Amino acid sequence: MIKERMDELIKMINQASYEYYTLDKPTITDQEYDRYMQELIRLEEEHPELKRKDSPTVRIGGEVIAGFQKVTHEKPMMSLSNVFNEAEIVSFDERIKKEVKNPKYVCELKIDGLSVSLIYKNGELVQAATRGDGVTGEDITHNVKTIKNVPLTLPKPLDIEVRGEIYMPKDSFEKLNQERAQKGEELFANPRNAAAGSVRQLDSKVAASRNLSTFIYHLPNALEMGIHSHYEALKYMRDLGFTTNPNIRKVNNIEELLDFIRTWTEKRESLPYEIDGIVIKLDDLDDQVRLGSTAKYPKWATAYKFPAMEVLTKLKDIVFSVGRTGQVTPNAVLEPVRLMGSIISRTTLHNEDYVKGLDLKIGDIVSIKKAGDVIPEVTKAIKERRTGEEIPFQMTDTCPICGTKLVRKENEAAYYCTNSKCDKRKIEALAHYVSRNAMKIEGFGDRIIEDFYNMGYLRDFSDFYHLYEKKEELMELEGFGEKSIQNLLDSIEKSKGNSLERLLFALGIRHVGAKTAKILARHFQTIDNMIMATEEELGHIYDIGDIIAKSVYSYFQDPANLELINHLKQVGVNTKYLGKEENMNTIFSGKTFVLTGSLENMTREELKDKLEELGGNVSGSVSNKTDVVIVGDKPGSKYDKALELGITIWNEEELMNNLKQ
Ligand code: NAD
Repeated sequence: MIKERMDELIKMINQASYEYYTLDKPTITDQEYDRYMQELIRLEEEHPELKRKDSPTVRIGGEVIAGFQKVTHEKPMMSLSNVFNEAEIVSFDERIKKEVKNPKYVCELKIDGLSVSLIYKNGELVQAATRGDGVTGEDITHNVKTIKNVPLTLPKPLDIEVRGEIYMPKDSFEKLNQERAQKGEELFANPRNAAAGSVRQLDSKVAASRNLSTFIYHLPNALEMGIHSHYEALKYMRDLGFTTNPNIRKVNNIEELLDFIRTWTEKRESLPYEIDGIVIKLDDLDDQVRLGSTAKYPKWATAYKFPAMEVLTKLKDIVFSVGRTGQVTPNAVLEPVRLMGSIISRTTLHNEDYVKGLDLKIGDIVSIKKAGDVIPEVTKAIKERRTGEEIPFQMTDTCPICGTKLVRKENEAAYYCTNSKCDKRKIEALAHYVSRNAMKIEGFGDRIIEDFYNMGYLRDFSDFYHLYEKKEELMELEGFGEKSIQNLLDSIEKSKGNSLERLLFALGIRHVGAKTAKILARHFQTIDNMIMATEEELGHIYDIGDIIAKSVYSYFQDPANLELINHLKQVGVNTKYLGKEENMNTIFSGKTFVLTGSLENMTREELKDKLEELGGNVSGSVSNKTDVVIVGDKPGSKYDKALELGITIWNEEELMNNLKQ
């Protein structure tokens, strides 16, 4: 199985490399390629005995195409290892620190072009070559001579090699593709491929017309020339008339390094050329030599790749789930993909209209984005990549659990299972009852709820409060002991003292979310007052619309619901509002907080509870409405957004001081 997957990955990577490096015509995105490569690297690490000698993890991509002279590089032209998040950057730094005390790095933009070696003899440009497979490249001197910022003659009669990147600026790329579209010619996928396609032409008129440019970033023989720092080498090359990138920073520690990365992650769109990451290089050239390289990468450098805002992956299947209201939702089963720090393998497709609106078919390559930084969304199908094997989507017309025929309510896109006894609906309702914003009964994972339901211990909410009568029996169940059962029972007991809003939310009344529950609880103070309220009275409450009023009113008209509430009262569940109005006067009250990064003193969940208890609101994304962003260790993009919008920022120490007050 693993061997087959490795072979499959190698096949896909080799095919993609051929299309990318040799034909300059990729058919998959860089993120997909990187993902296959990462998976292969992981499998090779886990199963070294299965690693193939010809694995693409140890080879540099390109090859020489027919018609070009071969050039052997005096020193190999290497690729770069990749890191994808801040934790991996920190590990890179730690690895370096094992060998080098107080390392200094040079951070550079990773220009998305192709690398070139330029050789000067006696101050004259005599040879320009592509990287090729790292050892042998293609002679592209005739084309490179047409690039305006490549000096043909140096101010001194030097014998020297420099290396850098040939790229096509964004506006030239757009113009080129427009012209090609007008002529009915095939378009280039991105500026990198357009640049590579332009210099790998036999006729130099083509390259001359393409407005290419270069940034030079490497002096292979610097040490032999008496230069001992990479930063100095860059300066030396700039003085010789080469164009080096102006956005280069020498950093003294990991904080400065991460700061450079965060800044450019935000600002990269503003550049007139594309970059796909940041290259981090150890500055001291003697240390570079000491660290050496693998067959493919130098060990003294790495490339941080920007997270994709949007990634492509395969829609493997569409499956249906049933929620506690009976709503049946289609869900995308995806080939796992990393997007902004998390691995996504499943996401909601909301309803039939959403799937049909996007014209999704099973087997499609789809694009995934994160909405509001949190929930992944399928945003489109890449129709050009269809093979004809895709299967059209069909909304189910029966409940996947109990088989009841589904109904679509008027003016709603969703379909519902109307069987109030549908097992899945009941299990979901029980899970909702114990959840964090509801009765907060800890220790009940979804699995336990389902098992207890199937074993008949839990049928409706009041059953939680009778579980103690079955303590002995429960302790005998596999996976439980006296301690875990006692913890569950203690948490159930504790939940009896919750304030009314938690119970209201837990009951699962349609349209009553946690916020609405709070408004209602504060207004009515007791559940009995609510039961007596008319629909009109409910509708007059500030922030309670007609739909909510109607739904709450009809909930309390149902005798079964009243019986349940009575039962809950009998077992001792509090039905009064206990809100501490004095909390409305804290420095937290009425403010909207956003959290990013991890805290030392408490979990994010604990902090959220605390802030809400003190009258604050917690939101998932930073906007102009945010009052304070609380920044912990390793914060994400929310931190940068806060800086950009000038929002108040608290670190953990400030937060703790304010909490103490
Ligand atoms: P790379 O592009 O990840 O990194 C190495 C290259 O970075 C160097 O060779 C150099 O050309 C370039 N670079 C840019 N700025 C630099 C700087 N300031 N300092 C040093 N180097 C700099 O590695 P690679 O081996 O050239 O290519 C692999 C990548 O190419 C993959 O990660 C993927 O993104 C892409 N790729 C895509 C496909 C596809 O089908 N879409 C196929 C193959 C490769």
